[in-house]
Amino acid sequence: ERRAASAAWEGPGRTADGHAVQVLANVQDAKGAERAAQEPVEGFGLYRTELSFLDRPSEPTVQEQTDVYGAVLAAAGSGKVVVRTLDAGSDKPLAFADMGTEANPALGVRGLRVGRRLPELLAHQLDAVAAASQASEATVWVMAPMVSVPSEAAAFAAECRTRGLTPGVMIETPSAALLAERVLEHVDFVSIGTNDLSQYTFAADRMSAELGDLTDPWQPGLLVLVEAVARAGERTGKPVGVCGEAAADPALACVLVGLGVTSLSCAASAVRPVGARLASVTLEQCQQAARAALAAADPASAREAVAAVLDA
Ligand code: PEP
Ligand code: MG
Repeated sequence: ERRAASAAWEGPGRTADGHAVQVLANVQDAKGAERAAQEPVEGFGLYRTELSFLDRPSEPTVQEQTDVYGAVLAAAGSGKVVVRTLDAGSDKPLAFADMGTEANPALGVRGLRVGRRLPELLAHQLDAVAAASQASEATVWVMAPMVSVPSEAAAFAAECRTRGLTPGVMIETPSAALLAERVLEHVDFVSIGTNDLSQYTFAADRMSAELGDLTDPWQPGLLVLVEAVARAGERTGKPVGVCGEAAADPALACVLVGLGVTSLSCAASAVRPVGARLASVTLEQCQQAARAALAAADPASAREAVAAVLDA
């Protein structure tokens, strides 16, 4: 029955009672973006730019980057595209942004922090995004990965605004989540990366299957942080998305909406199941599900309590 509903759902994202939630796809290249655009999405909520350059020994030129980004923007038509600046390091190493051997790469010079050593890398990328954006019909937003403190958001926002780009940041560290309101003083939106936010909140490697129970996106400790960020978004009147794996789980997506998240970005294959599930429940049910998940003792009881609310 649910599979039939998924197949029938044609967007746009909204609950049964009409509360709008953007449903977007995560993409990494033009081919995948063209496929994702076949789904009923309003755009791409996370474009992982670094994945195009994993095999590059040297930095691609601004023109090359402009062409690569332009092809993804073209796939979005007049939709929204959230371009993430290079998230180099740790699980996504780039030869041209190699920071040498570090004892703890996940806690090292990665993501936006690479700009401490190589500021021109970010400058070139933003030049390319700005050029690609000007040549496209898409609504382009740009966001930085691995932000820990509000001053990093401020510096990134300044680089974007001088180029006419709309800046945001990912919320992937507990500090950024706890200070989300101060982060949002500087940027126009935030998007929660639940994969890294789990890793850093529970101090458990996201790649470790053995510790998978701790990085489970249903952990109430993670959801408390998501709620804090959503409240900051409401107070500042700015959008709060989720673009980590949590957004790909239809029941958890309803919980995120109940917590106050305004957009969900997930793998293209999850777009229909997520959109259809959301369309089958009211905002009130989502809010009730969110309260149940926050109050649960552990992920298993959170799943159970939420299923009971959503199926009621
Ligand atoms: C995340 O950390 O949740 C995220 C969306 O980014 P990535 O998985 O690319 O680190
Ligand atoms: Mg991440």
